[in-house]
Amino acid sequence: MSDIPKAYEPGKIEKKWYDFWLSQGYFIPGVDRDKKPFVIIMPPTNVTGELHLGHALTATLEDIMVRWQRMQGAPTLWLPGTDHAGIATQVVVERQLAEQGQTKAEVGREKFIKLTWEWANKSRRNIRLQHQLLGASCDWTREKFTLDDGPNKAVRTAFVRLYDKGLIYRGERMINWCPRCRTALSDLEVEHKDIVGHLYYIRYPLTQRKGFVTVATTRPETFLGDTAVAVNPADKRYKNLIGKSVTLPIIDKEIPIIADDAVDTSFGTGALKITPAHDPTDFEVAQRHNLRLVDIMNPDATMNQNAGPYQGLERFACRDKVLADLKDKGLLEKIEPYSHSVGHCGRCQTMIEPKVSLQWFVRTQPLAKAAIEVVKEGRVTIIPERFTKIYFDWMENIRDWCISRQLWWGHRIPVWYCQDCGKVMASVDELKACIHCGSRQLIQDPDVLDTWFSSALWPHSTLGWPEDTDDLRYFYPGSVMETGYDILFFWVARMIMMGLEDTGEIPFHTVYLHGLIRDESGEKMSKLRGNVINPSEAIGKYGVDALRFALTTGTSPGNDTSVGESKLESSRNFVNKLWNASRFILQSMDAEGLEALPVQLQLERIEDQWINSQLNRLVKSVTGLMENFQFGEAEQQIYDFVWSKFCDWYIEIAKIRLRSQSTPSPLSFLTSILEKSLRLLHPFMPFVTEELWQSLLRAQRGNFVLGSAHDGTIMMPASIMMAPYPIADDKAFAPEAERVMDSVIEIVRSIRNVRAQYKVKSSKWIEARVYTGELLSSLIAEAGMIETLAKVRPLTILDRQRRESAKDKELVLVLKEAEVAVSLAGMMDRLAEEQRLARESGEIKEKIAQLDARLRDNAFLSKAPAQIVEKERQKLAMLEDKLNRLHQELSQLSSSSSDS
Ligand SMILES: [Zn+2]
Ligand SMILES: [Zn+2]
Repeated sequence: MSDIPKAYEPGKIEKKWYDFWLSQGYFIPGVDRDKKPFVIIMPPTNVTGELHLGHALTATLEDIMVRWQRMQGAPTLWLPGTDHAGIATQVVVERQLAEQGQTKAEVGREKFIKLTWEWANKSRRNIRLQHQLLGASCDWTREKFTLDDGPNKAVRTAFVRLYDKGLIYRGERMINWCPRCRTALSDLEVEHKDIVGHLYYIRYPLTQRKGFVTVATTRPETFLGDTAVAVNPADKRYKNLIGKSVTLPIIDKEIPIIADDAVDTSFGTGALKITPAHDPTDFEVAQRHNLRLVDIMNPDATMNQNAGPYQGLERFACRDKVLADLKDKGLLEKIEPYSHSVGHCGRCQTMIEPKVSLQWFVRTQPLAKAAIEVVKEGRVTIIPERFTKIYFDWMENIRDWCISRQLWWGHRIPVWYCQDCGKVMASVDELKACIHCGSRQLIQDPDVLDTWFSSALWPHSTLGWPEDTDDLRYFYPGSVMETGYDILFFWVARMIMMGLEDTGEIPFHTVYLHGLIRDESGEKMSKLRGNVINPSEAIGKYGVDALRFALTTGTSPGNDTSVGESKLESSRNFVNKLWNASRFILQSMDAEGLEALPVQLQLERIEDQWINSQLNRLVKSVTGLMENFQFGEAEQQIYDFVWSKFCDWYIEIAKIRLRSQSTPSPLSFLTSILEKSLRLLHPFMPFVTEELWQSLLRAQRGNFVLGSAHDGTIMMPASIMMAPYPIADDKAFAPEAERVMDSVIEIVRSIRNVRAQYKVKSSKWIEARVYTGELLSSLIAEAGMIETLAKVRPLTILDRQRRESAKDKELVLVLKEAEVAVSLAGMMDRLAEEQRLARESGEIKEKIAQLDARLRDNAFLSKAPAQIVEKERQKLAMLEDKLNRLHQELSQLSSSSSDS
């Protein structure tokens, strides 16, 4: 007996099946040297807290790929992991300390790192549980963390190799500096905001003679660090001043006036103050002209000794003081309002300070060269293709990568400074003594590496590199790197560069980029807007399968996708539809005592041939779509098949046959289509398909043979996730059967529409005639089916040639291969219908009068926004149109009544 419950309750079965898969070791790949494995290394999740919908999308897409590949028989590895996430995590723990009134300086480095580890471990457990909740079939026995010993050794090894090759250097360069976090930041960690500020015009007195050069700046306090004034050599206004100098006010410092082509003559006065230590463009000018760098700020953005009388002031207080002093001296010419984009720390929102700082850098150009080549040669493919151009643009203009961070949480830079001989040493293993002079006075660099440095090694460090492990040999290079398009440069490009550099091989052959998730109106999801969907809540309400389906169906790579309650609801409806259909089939199996399927299914009836043909076409199409990473479209097609063909038509037709106990019974075939549909759906909806599969297994008592002879006779495996993915059988295509069934469906649908339109009771039989050409004999053969499905009797099917002229009381529907004439007489209670139509048109007339008055009201017209007025006009037009159609129906009704 099948014991399938009436309603599907996802919460009751999801954990059960996940635990079952886990306990059976299904997620662990079997190593088969003769087979090419399929490998996805999961983008490491930041240990900063809860998973959001973007993580759920990543996990779902990757799970779809690995479940599909596993069902196709590839040894499949999906390796999960987490990222220590440097600054992001450090800021979280700093905040927790702040809540207890403590700072990280007070607790000290060692204790702080210990606290951060505790937080990270808690987060990792949470992240693992949330991925398991989503059904992620990853190999937890191989789970990695970027700070694990293995990846940590990989980081040190990669660093030392680059250092030895001269590809890592320490130097003074312009970086983004967060004065609160007191660290360098990558461009990714900087958020740009438009700010309405001011442009200050400051006069610099000429040294050699009377007069001024006026410069314009948004940051007047930086004048303390100026080392030149630059003008464009073509600018006639300043021609005579090039080579002369000005004296900086207040601090009385003489600086030269230089000429540089980069100066934009239209900005401000055309004379540019050059502050090389605090502005990226000025830094470049300074490099060309050999200008000194004068750093005027401490790490916390207070002014240092180079700021003379302003030393100790905070940067904005300094700005006020500088402006007041300049004004006193008559050197502040004017102030204009000015909007510009200002960088802020992405973690703490403090305004960043562009600053020259002594940091570690990777010389990226030589690495980028190889990374460009492999994409050009097609060894690495980026999906969607349009991102390839963006990749090239970025890689061809790559700048050196600042990899040091003034943080505590992360991979400590493996560099030691000898206090005795002054030498600098990079080493994979901890150095106890100087390798040059033997001194034990060594100090390790206090900084840590940019979190993206360890992420860049992720595809090989997770598999054991730099050791020569079995995993590295078998699973590297990986197959697909799936991630968001927003980190193509920051992460994907770096993985390609570092993979090639460290292993000599590409890290993966395909980059699959997904888009962002937006709400139903296309807005970005954010806590501020209050439109965030929490994955755990969505799972509680709709079930995992519905969430996965809503996130991925109908989407395509690289495009943003909209998700909201209505999409979740319709996905849940689909799960329920599948559930109800399966329940019906399972109960029928019980009733018939069907315990085993015949290996060779007989497709005697036209609807059997039709659904079998449609299914095989679907399998063929889905296979092609999956191979081209079009998962969203594949899902959409499976959805359409299951809902609109299998459930809506085939099962309904089969029900008629089962009720009349006609032979052959459609049950074996129903079951076969169901189990193939389950297998098709499994990668997308793992839980409901497993639950139904298990019900089928129980119903079949293990006698189940998969599919028709075409798929071979395979006993049903103990879990659907180990069953083979369906393969299309071209021989099953039946164009004739499809043509007939398409016509049958069209006829039935058109009659049902008429019945709905005229509100005919579902129990009432109506009369219809069908005229057709080539399909005459086929349609006559299916007359019984049409009669029952459309509730028409008598149904007459005639040759088009013998068509009688249409009668007034007939409604004629013109279809693709047939015309259907439905008799209106007797279809409804005429009087009641007349009353209904009259009532409806009365209501509409009233509404029209109201709207009309409103649109003539000048007060309304002058006050209301144009689009509101336009909307009202449209409403009025629609109502008038409807009234018209009601009148037509009324007159049709009265003419048919006078006829009869
Ligand atoms: Zn910050
Ligand atoms: Zn030494």
